[in-house]
Amino acid sequence: MGKLRFKALEDLISNSRELLEFNFTKRKASEYYGENVFDVDTMQKYVSKEAYKSVLEAIEKGTKIDRKMADQIAAGMKAWSIERGATHYTHWFQPLTGNTAEKHDAFVHIDKNGRPFENFDGKLLVQQEPDASSFPSGGIRNTFEARGYTAWDPSSPAFVIDDTLCIPTIFVAYTGEALDYKTPLINSLTALSKAATEVCQYFDKDVTKVHANLGWEQEYFLIDESLCLARPDISLTGRTLMGHASSKDQQLDDHYFGAIPIRVKRFMQDLEIEAHRLGIPLKTRHNEVAPNQFEFAPIYEEANLAVDHNQLVMALMKDIAKKHKFRVLLHEKPFKGVNGSGKHNNWSMETNTGVNLLSPGKNPKSNLQFLTFLINTVKAVYDHADLLRASIASASNSHRLGANEAPPAIVSVFLGQYLTKMLEDFGGRVSEKKMTPNEKTELKLDIGKIPEILLDNTDRNRTSPFAFTGNRFEFRAVGSGANCASPMTALCTAVAGQLEEFKIDVEAIVSKGVKRDEAIFQVLKKYIEIAKPVLFEGNNYSEEWAKEAERRGLTNIKNVPEALEALVSEKSIALFEKTKVLTNRELHARHHILEEDYTMKIQIEARVLGDLSINHIVPTAVKYQSELINNVQGLKDIFGEEEYKQLAGNRLNLIREISEHISSIKAQVNDMIEARKIANKLDNPVEKAKAYSSTIAPFFDSIRYHIDKLELIVDDEMWPLPKYREMLFLR
Ligand code: ADP
Ligand code: MG
Repeated sequence: MGKLRFKALEDLISNSRELLEFNFTKRKASEYYGENVFDVDTMQKYVSKEAYKSVLEAIEKGTKIDRKMADQIAAGMKAWSIERGATHYTHWFQPLTGNTAEKHDAFVHIDKNGRPFENFDGKLLVQQEPDASSFPSGGIRNTFEARGYTAWDPSSPAFVIDDTLCIPTIFVAYTGEALDYKTPLINSLTALSKAATEVCQYFDKDVTKVHANLGWEQEYFLIDESLCLARPDISLTGRTLMGHASSKDQQLDDHYFGAIPIRVKRFMQDLEIEAHRLGIPLKTRHNEVAPNQFEFAPIYEEANLAVDHNQLVMALMKDIAKKHKFRVLLHEKPFKGVNGSGKHNNWSMETNTGVNLLSPGKNPKSNLQFLTFLINTVKAVYDHADLLRASIASASNSHRLGANEAPPAIVSVFLGQYLTKMLEDFGGRVSEKKMTPNEKTELKLDIGKIPEILLDNTDRNRTSPFAFTGNRFEFRAVGSGANCASPMTALCTAVAGQLEEFKIDVEAIVSKGVKRDEAIFQVLKKYIEIAKPVLFEGNNYSEEWAKEAERRGLTNIKNVPEALEALVSEKSIALFEKTKVLTNRELHARHHILEEDYTMKIQIEARVLGDLSINHIVPTAVKYQSELINNVQGLKDIFGEEEYKQLAGNRLNLIREISEHISSIKAQVNDMIEARKIANKLDNPVEKAKAYSSTIAPFFDSIRYHIDKLELIVDDEMWPLPKYREMLFLR
């Protein structure tokens, strides 16, 4: 019975011995950095000046590239990628499955005379029609229409992986509706740029464009490939559905920032080289809190590019881990009882003049600009907390949020005590009456002190879901496996909508004859008052905060299907339509897709748990129990009644205990199947997701409880699945 497990452990030992044959490039990273990317510098060498200019314009201004230029660019891409060994090309896109998708076509084509040649032109570059009828569309694209288009996104450069030229694209329906993560992200970045630029114009006429920056921190687990393959739950669901805690795990804090195990380091080096060749600026690598948990972080980039790079890194990690006989787990909670994985999204806004709008400036004017963007962001988070919550909701992330290792489901903002006090003082000084020149000067002087205040401000709150960290906000509740486009779209859209509102509010006061700087003061003061309940400096993991948040009227939506409903609230629809990021129909389609995704994830877990319980665990327990019964029977045959009673007592209890666990498991698996039958009859995807969440998911922990107890009782040699202590300690 335990054969597979023992074979896996043997393989683990040989896998661990095999390492060290590492091909050090002995080249400086700067020599090969970006060599697999068709970036604008490379493009300049391969296309005409005219074509090059049209791409730059498309990136800068979002203008269209005409067919003639596209032909030239395609020819350049083809020549460059063939030099790099490419034989195929693909439109690379991000459908709502959460993964990336690609369909490879060979360059090679046959001409009229039967001669082969390499073919790739502007038409193939700009648009394709993948037969993508199986991607989720939430009813927007009927399968019989089967038409979805991928369209080239020139703002993210093409790259070569292995033998394939990959062209980043968006994925839309025949009717133009978005079917992917990228389309709304790009729309939200455009909306943010427009709204933020208009507000910047109050302070600096040179600002013509604002972009968002994103620096993600990718946490992940590695486990040995052989052990993963012997665990159907990990292979099929990305997490362990059972497994008793190891006697030692993270209680000694000896893994965090510790020396990286050499085998893992080889994996990291390999990944870094590939990432650097693809122009992904990976910078930091280290051990995380849980055993076998690690993190990569790049230097931040423009958000659209950073999203692509994160998707690319997640895909690369999976491939490269296999080369090193590992499996990478991007699930938010692969192991019970040890920390799960998140992906902090560090976010800021930057002008074309190089100013970080979330960084205090050198004079009162630029500091007022900083305060304006800071306060508008806080207000946006306050107004659209539920939308942000929805943007990070998934079946897997729900294990981590609120589990005393990650922020709770309550969305709040941490600013640090100095900045919080500064906002309070600011509010106190601004009055509705016309301010005297003296009052204004004092207020401006105060604002001027912000940089000094922040310099000393080493405040860090690691429990907050949305924390200001000196020159950026860190959205800390994002899941490790998530596509960052989802939280980034929600955030950028909310802030864009808020900045539009700000301008309207300021202009309304100015139109009454109030000076503009004073109007800005008044509006900011009003916003601070309105958004105050969302500010929280204390321990977000505590029970008191949950109570306090409720008193303040903040929501605490723990359940995924319910959290997702915020995508189609009246408030969200109005926001997305006003900023032209998503239409009502697109939002409803997206909402249904995500609810269905949740249902399917829970359904798969329920099936795997049921199968493993009945096919692996129960038979093992029965077998061990039979051995005990035989043993007891033997004692009875050999010894007299008195002695037998003395000797067999414990074993009899054990036999009883095993029976009880087995019966509980069997009964609950049956009940879980019945609950599924009822839920499956529901047609409405939201009702179905809710039924899966409330009537099926609760079985997972209660079935697991009995399995984990059996793991402690049953003979180790019989136990079929690799144990936590075996999986969690890579050497
Ligand atoms: P920590 O763990 O202390 O948060 P890390 O170094 O792990 O720090 O990650 C910080 C991330 O924040 C990096 O990706 C970094 O590039 C990014 N970052 C730094 N400054 C900014 C900024 N102004 N805007 C967006 N991201 C930023
Ligand atoms: Mg961080």
